[in-house]
Amino acid sequence: MKQPAIISILVMVLAGAGVVYFMTTGTPGTQSKHPLDMESQWICLAENEPHDFILTIREISQFPDGVTCTVCSSAEVSRAFPCTNCDRHYPIGRYNASPANCMHCGFRLDGADISVFHGSEGH
Ligand SMILES: [Zn+2]
Ligand SMILES: [Zn+2]
Repeated sequence: MKQPAIISILVMVLAGAGVVYFMTTGTPGTQSKHPLDMESQWICLAENEPHDFILTIREISQFPDGVTCTVCSSAEVSRAFPCTNCDRHYPIGRYNASPANCMHCGFRLDGADISVFHGSEGH
């Protein structure tokens, strides 16, 4: 009667291997990018023609005195979002407040509704 014991050991080994396999391959999507490689959009407003640039969290940490433009080294930079119409960056302010229209192509931006909502309070 030794065979059942061998089978149960085999089952345990296989189950253990299955758990390891699940742990290393599970949760799809999380292994796509390291958190430090997450990209953020920036815009530089030092010149008439804004400079768009993208920094990863890792690159931002390499600016001990604050982020500066990668094109002209100006400190007049702001976090930005890419325009859904033209892909150029537009600046976002505090609480993600954004301009009503893209400063590049004039496309009406999603965040515009927020300012409309606040502006109609004092009716
Ligand atoms: Zn610049
Ligand atoms: Zn645009």
